[in-house]
Amino acid sequence: MIGRMGCLFCKIIAREIPSEILAENEHALAFRDINPVAPTHVLVIPKKHLAGLSDAAPEDGGALGEVLLLARAVAAKELSQGYRLVINNGADAGQSVFHLHVHVLGGRPLAWPPG
Ligand code: 5GP
Ligand code: ZN
Repeated sequence: MIGRMGCLFCKIIAREIPSEILAENEHALAFRDINPVAPTHVLVIPKKHLAGLSDAAPEDGGALGEVLLLARAVAAKELSQGYRLVINNGADAGQSVFHLHVHVLGGRPLAWPPG
């Protein structure tokens, strides 16, 4: 597990790596995915480094709530139709960056179930 020091998304939070930031609140940051898989593809992350959802504790509940509310705000601005939130937890689920993130996907029909 890569810790905070080498973490790509912690560097995005610190503005050490550029990204297209769309919104933020006290505990969460929203920015565009560098490799979008839908017309709108935004990542929303807690500012606290958590490697994945499985690392979240009860004390992180407030921050996780702010992540969802920021995802909602981005979707309300960009996505008048439906949209989907995805959290890949663990390599087997497709997680490749080990800082918890919620994908906000929309702007095209989304198939169910996901692959
Ligand atoms: P995961 O596969 O872990 O669920 O999602 C990681 C996401 O991070 C991928 O969709 C990938 O395109 C995105 N990503 C990886 N590196 C960067 C980066 O440097 N900047 C941005 N904005 N997104 C990134
Ligand atoms: Zn991090």
